[in-house]
Amino acid sequence: MNKNSRIFIAGHRGMVGSAIKRKLESRGYSDLLYRTRGELDLTNQQSVNEFFTSQKPEYVFLAAAKVGGIMANSTYPAEFIYENLMIEANVIHAAYVNGVKKLLFLGSSCIYPRLAPQPLKEEYLLTGELEVTNEAYAIAKIAGIRMCKHYNQQYGTNFISVMPTNLYGPNDNYDPKTSHVMAALIRKFHEAKKNNEPEVIVWGTGSPRREFLHVDDMADACILLMEKYTFSDIGEFINIGTGRDITIRELAELIKNIVGYHGKIIYDHSKPDGTPQKLLDVTKLHRLGWKASIQLKDGIERVYREYIQ
Ligand code: GDP
Repeated sequence: MNKNSRIFIAGHRGMVGSAIKRKLESRGYSDLLYRTRGELDLTNQQSVNEFFTSQKPEYVFLAAAKVGGIMANSTYPAEFIYENLMIEANVIHAAYVNGVKKLLFLGSSCIYPRLAPQPLKEEYLLTGELEVTNEAYAIAKIAGIRMCKHYNQQYGTNFISVMPTNLYGPNDNYDPKTSHVMAALIRKFHEAKKNNEPEVIVWGTGSPRREFLHVDDMADACILLMEKYTFSDIGEFINIGTGRDITIRELAELIKNIVGYHGKIIYDHSKPDGTPQKLLDVTKLHRLGWKASIQLKDGIERVYREYIQ
């Protein structure tokens, strides 16, 4: 990939796609292609084919997906499986047909079996039952990974897949019903402080463990992989994370302090905990020479400043 390559960012308005776009622009990549959902519906095969045939992108970041937190995933599983399968199948196939030089597919750490050993190594894929609260999404993402792998096998393409841990950063979704925990808690603590509320409700027991990566770090890793590494260097896919996790209780305390809220935290045990721990093994990524650089506390402070603006 060089500065004049024609690069399509699918999902450029989402948290990851927008971070990749910002970083590519700041590094002088000058031929970036992106389309809003209104301009190009990625679930529509004909539209995707026409787009690829007329625009001929050389590199594709496939960051478009239907995503959501634990409630959205478990309430709308049909939408999650359908939309994600359609987007992947259309874009990956069109990339093959139109001779795309390299494609980077974005998965998620929820592809791993619910009770897989921690930290999660890439080889644990498909070794056990999935977490039920996000099974539909996970199945779709696993299909995307295997599509890339099998296209590489049969057609000699260079399609790589990355599995990010829980992400946070600019352009996150702050809707309380569909957001992930980081955005949800930033909003809850901020509003509780503003309205002088005596308590904040945190879902579940507070004991699940999660790992959080700032999306600017994620974009940095994706661009490095796109620039330097091929499918044969990476294998089927590669984890992207920090290698460190914390409990939801610790996260809640951290956000409470950053926001400056002084009330109580109540744990609502009627809400699901989801998978007990999600920590990625990042040995493979570290071996390629990449490490996350944004510390969790600094990252949350940055995001909170952006949120209040
Ligand atoms: P997950 O990583 O797929 O489980 O997705 P989430 O980011 O939505 O949830 C992570 C954990 O945070 C789960 O144990 C949730 O129960 C917990 N959690 C606590 N409070 C909230 C909240 O207000 N919203 C969300 N989405 N999760 C919360």
